[in-house]
Amino acid sequence: MSRLSREQISEITQKLRNRQRALLEEVRDEFDQRDNQQLVELMGREPGDSGDVSLADALADMNILRADRQIHELRDIDAAFARMKSGDFGICTDCGAEIPAQRLLAYPTAKRCMACQQRHEQLFAQEGRPKL
Ligand SMILES: [Zn+2]
Repeated sequence: MSRLSREQISEITQKLRNRQRALLEEVRDEFDQRDNQQLVELMGREPGDSGDVSLADALADMNILRADRQIHELRDIDAAFARMKSGDFGICTDCGAEIPAQRLLAYPTAKRCMACQQRHEQLFAQEGRPKL
């Protein structure tokens, strides 16, 4: 565990919990608002079934990809809680250095130090991965 004070840990935990709750509410709202019939039909469709619209395209039209990002962030939050439990929280997963408390307070789900994060992002940028 990095050298975070008890106060910093509890502030970070609070931030993670707040974010988690906000994300869950967003996802729930989106599902409530959507025409669920369309979703049911899509899920019941056999792979390669009729239609020229791919399932992924249809889901994108239905804004599911946005929920997918929220789900992704929820997984990051879960991982942060897991790292707190295991004592790895605040340690860069790439180089093992301590992540500064200021960075963790700003980005509680950060799993890399600034240098490693920048390198990581450059790698992804080179692969031409679209930034959502
Ligand atoms: Zn690092």
